[in-house]
Amino acid sequence: MQVWQVLRPYLTTNRSFLVCMADVGGPLNLLFLQSIGDSTNVVSSSYYYIPGFAHTDPPQSILHVRQRAEVTHPPQKVLTVCCAVKDKKDAAGIINGDSIWPQGHGPGCFTVLFVDGHSAYLKSSKWLWDPKLEDGNVGLADDWSSLGWTDFR
Ligand SMILES: [Zn+2]
Repeated sequence: MQVWQVLRPYLTTNRSFLVCMADVGGPLNLLFLQSIGDSTNVVSSSYYYIPGFAHTDPPQSILHVRQRAEVTHPPQKVLTVCCAVKDKKDAAGIINGDSIWPQGHGPGCFTVLFVDGHSAYLKSSKWLWDPKLEDGNVGLADDWSSLGWTDFR
């Protein structure tokens, strides 16, 4: 699918259409890019596409095209997380590494989109840790799980 062709009608009329209504302090992608000194000439977005869908399974992480058929549990595999930021303090905590989950949808909670197309409001503490990942990498471990792994039960 040509993602940019599909998005063109929206991008030309409303460049913030990927910003969640709960994202008062963000969007996180622009805040992150600013924090590392990168250009912010990108589409504003509250949504975080799980990198595991563009990389090999753990423990190695190499850019790689993945197929939907590789996901063994589509109703339990997260595709996208809303990273709505509550306020500037929330954003600073994430950028500084004090926390990994934005609070725009409430403390310790977020909205997620699963591979099968359903969405849910969940507690971030319920995200399951893929045992293939190295210990101590919990911040990234949540979203770099293998496509055969179940993120939530
Ligand atoms: Zn949201």
